[in-house]
Amino acid sequence: MKRTWTAAAVAAGVLLLAYLLATDPVWRQSAWLALVAGATGSVYAGIRLHRPPTRRPYVLLLGALVLLTAVNVIEFPAWHASDSVLTVATALELLAFPTMGLATLDLVRLQTPHGDREGVIDGTIVMVALATLLSGTVSAAALVEHTSILSYALLAVAPIVLAGVATAAMRLLLVGNQRLPATWLIAGAPLLALGGHVLRTLSQSAGTYARGGWEDLPIGLSYGLVGLAVLHPTMVALAGPAPTRPHRLTHGRVAILGLALLAAPATMVMTGRTVLPFIAAVVLSLLVLVRLWSLVIERETGRDEMRRQAAHDPLTGLPNRTSLLERLDDVLARRSSADPADAVLFLDLDGFKRVNDAWGHAAGDEFVLVCERIGQRGAVRLAERLIAVLSEPFALAGGPAQVGASIGLTLHTAGGAGAEALLAEADAAMYQAKQRGGYAYEIYGVTLGARLQRRRQLEADLVDALQTGGLRLEYQPVVALEPRGTVGFEALLRWDHPDLGAISPVEAVSAAEATGTVGALGAWVLREACGQLARWNASAPAHDPLTMFVNVSARELLDPRMPARVAGILADTGVAAAQVVLEVTEHAALDVTGTGLQTLGALRLQGLRIALDDFGTGYSSLTHLQQVPFDFIKIDTSFTTDLDVAVDNRAIVAAIVSMAGHLGAQVVGEGIETAAQLDALRELGCALGQGWLLGRPRPAGVIGGAQLSGRPRRERDAVAASPSAHPPLHRHG
Ligand code: C2E
Ligand code: MG
Ligand code: MG
Repeated sequence: MKRTWTAAAVAAGVLLLAYLLATDPVWRQSAWLALVAGATGSVYAGIRLHRPPTRRPYVLLLGALVLLTAVNVIEFPAWHASDSVLTVATALELLAFPTMGLATLDLVRLQTPHGDREGVIDGTIVMVALATLLSGTVSAAALVEHTSILSYALLAVAPIVLAGVATAAMRLLLVGNQRLPATWLIAGAPLLALGGHVLRTLSQSAGTYARGGWEDLPIGLSYGLVGLAVLHPTMVALAGPAPTRPHRLTHGRVAILGLALLAAPATMVMTGRTVLPFIAAVVLSLLVLVRLWSLVIERETGRDEMRRQAAHDPLTGLPNRTSLLERLDDVLARRSSADPADAVLFLDLDGFKRVNDAWGHAAGDEFVLVCERIGQRGAVRLAERLIAVLSEPFALAGGPAQVGASIGLTLHTAGGAGAEALLAEADAAMYQAKQRGGYAYEIYGVTLGARLQRRRQLEADLVDALQTGGLRLEYQPVVALEPRGTVGFEALLRWDHPDLGAISPVEAVSAAEATGTVGALGAWVLREACGQLARWNASAPAHDPLTMFVNVSARELLDPRMPARVAGILADTGVAAAQVVLEVTEHAALDVTGTGLQTLGALRLQGLRIALDDFGTGYSSLTHLQQVPFDFIKIDTSFTTDLDVAVDNRAIVAAIVSMAGHLGAQVVGEGIETAAQLDALRELGCALGQGWLLGRPRPAGVIGGAQLSGRPRRERDAVAASPSAHPPLHRHG
């Protein structure tokens, strides 16, 4: 294929050379005819060879070349054709050019299936300007020679045709991003033809033109280019949609349009004529106006789109929170006291995470419905129906899926809360519905209101507590069960609120998560715990170091700076990474994807170990065990509680212990309160334990030396594992 193309290129070059060098007119014209016929053949062969998806533009090109071949046959000097026959030949030639232009425009059209209004306007401006210039100069000069009406008409049309063809070629170069070899060849041909014809006409009117002169070179070249273009394999891509670029008014474009506006006055000055340039000037000004107008419209629609995007959620296309609040404000402003209550329903999909996990979408799943004047009965009925409808299984590409919904409902009567507050109420009610297991609705009421107020107060006071030292830690021993001995401590957050009393760490952490202070809170806990660990280790230098178990929230893991922060705290407190175990609850671990997983990976690389806390309370535990290499698995209190009586729980714990063994993780039994539970766990092969029986969480100050050194040497060696290889803690040897 490549060889065919090269051969065709060489052949075209040789024929062109022969034309320029031949002295005998018959030979010369034969070479020219062969060149045109060769180009025609190449176009035909190219279409057959490459089979473009749309053949129309190339068939048009073929038509143009067939016409040009006919012209050259007529003009063959051996016939001694009469003047009128030669004029017909010129007419055919002039027909060939628009055909070529149409072919080029057709290619442009195929590349821009969605239209190209700006390109069309720009092209028309350039074309009118070119035609004005050409008709004012070239044709005017040639006009003197011609007397017949036909040739006069042809000369009047010629500049427009030539300008049109040249503009089509320029448009082909400007659309799309694909400047393929075929693009250059096809666009180059009409530009060369235009140049050649201008040269020819000028030298004809100066009386210096003779066939075979250098003025013919561009025209001959243009024939060659058309043939070679269609013979080139890239012609296929040229006849299909191209990645288009927006027609911004770049400096280059403005310069071209500005020059185009100068065409009319320039023609006026050069020719001294006024009518034609005047008309051209009017047309050009109108076109530029249209172009500017379309630019303004485009800007406006772009701004509308931006406004629309700012007010809508990109995934669902629904109005987003900002526009929700605006609309809700409108609704509240409109109501009168006699109206039934408005309702705000806060809807969260249940089990959506599972769908996400299985089908791989990442998206928020909270929706808000604002129902004007619906009344309580109507709102409740709507909530019930929504839950029923949403709980039905639906078909996804990957198979059937099922979610449910929790809905929080709040009602608004005249003079009630504002939009923000209503939303918070509905959110709180939804949270309540979720807490109850989901798939239900909850109406915001007074108790919920009190809870919400407490929550707001906690959120506000937590920041203070962090700064003024209102928080503290208690430490609960983590104990090796066989033989018995303390291997470390779990740090547990305590907050004694001045008004509300003791706040559970779960509530405190949740408030911190809501206010974005969870990173600061986590850092404080870790620094405090590590400082304590360093003091304990320093106070008993004869013993191997203890391990500190520190709880982290899943939100903390979403901060990519977290590993660096942890490293800084370890360095400051002088604690080795291998002495610290970070605990992530199973519920939290369910949300650990993407960034969270990377953070866990980075922390492990730093030598810290990771524990899966409250194991058995989440629902897709096994998948997550696979994703994160946990070093410890802490069996949730709920399994320990009935261990001595419930056979099921024993079986489950046995299975967890065996699975953990395979994964290289150590098992910690939580919530051991009785000797029977302890025995059961030990029998089942659980290595470590925690619970009131073994030691309650207590402030560091009351944890005595006996507890710190109550560990047999063997166990201590194991728990202070080296960061690179974390060996199992129990039963070696
Ligand atoms: P957890 O990590 O599973 O901690 C164990 C919880 O069980 C602690 O509750 C502890 O006091 C309690 N516990 C220990 N032994 C027994 C027992 O024998 N029986 C019973 N019934 N309970 C026992 P606490 O201190 O209320 O902490 C609750 C949860 O709060 C923790 O569960 C942990 O997930 C979270 N948490 C605590 N401190 C922090 C912290 O500093 N940061 C984060 N992110 N979460 C924390
Ligand atoms: Mg824990
Ligand atoms: Mg736990």
